[in-house]
Parts: sequence; structure tokens; C-alpha cells
Amino acid sequence: MATVRIRNVGTVGGNICFAEPASDPPAAFLVLEARMKAKKTDGSERVIPASAFWTDYYETALEEDELLTEIEIDPLPGEFRTAYTRFTTRSKEDKPCVSISVAIAAESDRKTCAGARIGLGGVEAVFRRLSAVEDGLKGKELSKEVIGEVLSQTLDDLEPISDIRASDAYRRQVTPVLVRRTIEKALLLE
Ligand SMILES: Cc1cc2nc3c(=O)[nH]c(=O)nc-3n(C[C@H](O)[C@H](O)[C@H](O)COP(=O)(O)OP(=O)(O)OC[C@H]3O[C@@H](n4cnc5c(N)ncnc54)[C@H](O)[C@@H]3O)c2cc1C
Repeated sequence: MATVRIRNVGTVGGNICFAEPASDPPAAFLVLEARMKAKKTDGSERVIPASAFWTDYYETALEEDELLTEIEIDPLPGEFRTAYTRFTTRSKEDKPCVSISVAIAAESDRKTCAGARIGLGGVEAVFRRLSAVEDGLKGKELSKEVIGEVLSQTLDDLEPISDIRASDAYRRQVTPVLVRRTIEKALLLE
């Protein structure tokens, strides 16, 4: 993400606390089910799951006297395959207009979906998991046709934003395509 200069100076903690919809890391942290540790000025600590960390446009669950001090991530179970897509509409170095993080696992038959985690960024005001798509994929055949069918039935709840990177209509149109491509990339489907 970003340029070498930004990566040398910006921190991942600053990135997620900024809560800008056009950020790369949050979609991946949602999929990794990261835990954000916050510390208050009185020394007390609490853990905020990634799913509850981003609350609104540029807003987080952090209180005024809280600092993010740690991000904890457990390794994904070995059967998961992962992929990430950052789709930019201006330059390659721009922040993403759509960012999609996928972790998907197959049953031992290597054809049936055992579980999927899909994080969405850039499209809506708040980062979130695509739970309806995840639920729709579970137990289904991991073929291009079936994945396409599930997406056509489970992505109608998108509430895209309009900004300098794209209109809401544009985001609504490209998001299902990019989600499908990211799932296919994770599964190495030709
Ligand atoms: C030219 C440019 C290109 C960029 N491209 C990308 C990109 O492609 N992808 C992408 O994801 N991002 C991109 N960024 C954003 C960049 O990743 C963030 O600006 C950076 O990570 C912020 O980190 P920082 O440590 O500088 O935070 P700061 O800018 O210092 O802080 C950001 C906000 O978070 C608060 N904050 C910081 N740390 C904490 C903490 N520990 N606890 C509580 N609050 C805290 C600050 O008070 C502030 O409100 C880009 C930025 C620039 C300028």
C-alpha cells in the first residue's frame, strides 16, 4: 500500500485509528479477526474486536482518553487460502476505491466451501465483513458458476459512498466483480 515514503513514516495503528474508508489494512484485519488493545489514561485496558473497531465514517470505538497500544492477530487456520485486491481508480499509488480481503477454506474433498471470511473496504462508510456472502458460500461447491450465483443473491445490501474516487453507482457495479475475482484468486481458479 501507498508509497515507500508513506510506508516509512505512517504506522498501521495510525492508519486504522484514522478510519478513512479508503485504507488498505482494515479489510485484512477484519478477516484475520484481529483484536485491538486500547489503554486509558488511568492505565486500564480493554480489547476491541476488529468487527467493532470502526463505527462510522472516520470514527472508531476508541474513547477520547484511549490510545491503541497493540493489535493482536492469531495465525489463520492452515486450511485457509487468502487473497487481497486493492482497486484504484486514479493512480496505482492512490488509496483504494475498493479493497477486498478474502480467506476461504475447502473441505477435505477440496471442492466444498468449509468457511469463508470476506472483508470489504473503500465501498461503504464503515469497513465490514460480507457476512451474507460468507454464509451463502458455506457448504457450496467452489466453482466459478456457484460462486457467481451466491454473489448475485447476497450482495444487494451494499450502501456505497460517492467521493472523488468513484460514484456510488460505480462502486455498486464493480464491487461484486472484484469480490468474485478475489475469491477466485484465493482459490487459484483459472
Ligand atoms: C500520499 C499518501 C498516500 C497514502 N496511501 C495509502 C494507501 O494506499 N493505503 C492506505 O491504507 N493508506 C494510505 N495512506 C494513509 C496512511 O497509511 C496513513 O496516513 C498512515 O498510516 C497514518 O499513520 P500515522 O502513524 O502517520 O498516523 P497519524 O496521521 O499520526 O494519525 C492518524 C489519526 O489517528 C490517531 N492516532 C494515531 N495513532 C493512534 C493510536 N495509537 N491510538 C489512538 N489514536 C491514534 C491520530 O490522532 C490521528 O487522528 C496514504 C497517505 C498519504 C499521505
